[in-house]
Amino acid sequence: MLSNMNEEQETIRAAVRRFAEAEIAPISEKLWEEQLFPYEIWKKVCALGFTGLPYPEEYGGGGGSWISFAIVLEELARIDCAVANSIMANSTVASLITNFGTSAQKEQHLRPILDGRKIGCIGLTEPNAGSDAAGVQTRAVETQDGWLVNGSKIFISNSGNDVTGPVVIAAVTGRKPDGRNEISNLIMPHGTPGFTYGGKLKKIGWRASSTHGLFFEDCLLPRENLLGERGAGLRQTLATINTGRILIGSMALGILQGSLDRSVAYMKERNAFGKPIASFQALQFKIADMATHAHAARLMLYHAAELKERGMPFDQEASMAKLFATEKAMEAAHQAIQIHGGYGIMSEYAVSRAFGDAKVLEIVEGTSEIQRMIISRQLLA
Ligand SMILES: Cc1cc2nc3c(=O)[nH]c(=O)nc-3n(C[C@H](O)[C@H](O)[C@H](O)COP(=O)(O)OP(=O)(O)OC[C@H]3O[C@@H](n4cnc5c(N)ncnc54)[C@H](O)[C@@H]3O)c2cc1C
Repeated sequence: MLSNMNEEQETIRAAVRRFAEAEIAPISEKLWEEQLFPYEIWKKVCALGFTGLPYPEEYGGGGGSWISFAIVLEELARIDCAVANSIMANSTVASLITNFGTSAQKEQHLRPILDGRKIGCIGLTEPNAGSDAAGVQTRAVETQDGWLVNGSKIFISNSGNDVTGPVVIAAVTGRKPDGRNEISNLIMPHGTPGFTYGGKLKKIGWRASSTHGLFFEDCLLPRENLLGERGAGLRQTLATINTGRILIGSMALGILQGSLDRSVAYMKERNAFGKPIASFQALQFKIADMATHAHAARLMLYHAAELKERGMPFDQEASMAKLFATEKAMEAAHQAIQIHGGYGIMSEYAVSRAFGDAKVLEIVEGTSEIQRMIISRQLLA
């Protein structure tokens, strides 16, 4: 499978690593402390073509592979997971519009989020509906003038900043013959009258990624802002989230690799009891575990990405890869702090900042419990 790691992918890895180390690492602590969305970095990653890498060239994307895109996110998250998340959340919107949008929607909403003029948000989660996405309560009523939307969303990445663009929201648009809610996806542009943001949410991880609640009060959307088929909203989102699991897993791999690299370097330079702490077997075992987990996670993630690339089913593999990579990233972030001792607790140290970032990864794009449900459901089917 890793014969697939071709020269192009290695070139992309090297380019993203150089960029992340030169441009993001020096400001990462400031972004974390001040919870700042990095506009300049966003513009640069777009200009370098990282953001739109797997999307159609016709709309400003790079026409590249999903494995290459996974590598981009891994390398960015190795340095700063919040920056990687901005690209990841934007890519969910890009996938939805690419796969289900009309050519007019692609021209109007996809192109600007691939070239960096705007950043996309996915608005699924609500105060009373997260894992249970079918429980969304935001309503969109079809009127003569268009869709009248009322409701709210919470924890929405990329929202409320100066470049926020389209938000794809899931809303109840009616009732199905079996009595269940009919849920559709609609494109809600930033600036729609009646659409407001709550205050910036303060977080223990992904601090440089702007996260807000969204409020819709009698927002009127043109009919043509319906994305794809009416009533297909959850189906569209769930199909897209499968790819998102590979991408979130890749960000976890970045944290795993970063925790390992930083631990190895620190173990060689720090002395205790008259010798480098690298000489203590108790710590050697920790890096051995991190390296093993990173290797296994990489194989699982690239395998899932390769299946996707070939048009084969990959749901189970994506869930397994996401579950494994995120839980091992959390473990690695924990152990990297242990290796750094007291310094590892200080926000000045990247290992400390990665701890909260790793925790978020176990929750988004389906929690670990939800991944285990998906995997076991398929085993028992
Ligand atoms: C920083 C951040 C950014 C985010 N960005 C976005 C975004 O851009 N767009 C978006 O739409 N959402 C976003 N989210 C929301 C995220 O997807 C949800 O938080 C996640 O899906 C979990 O939903 P919840 O928080 O409502 O938890 P709940 O669903 O209430 O879960 C609470 C606990 O119950 C468990 N649980 C739930 N159901 C079951 C079950 N059937 N069996 C066993 N255990 C269960 C869960 O695993 C969890 O442990 C973001 C969240 C965070 C923290």
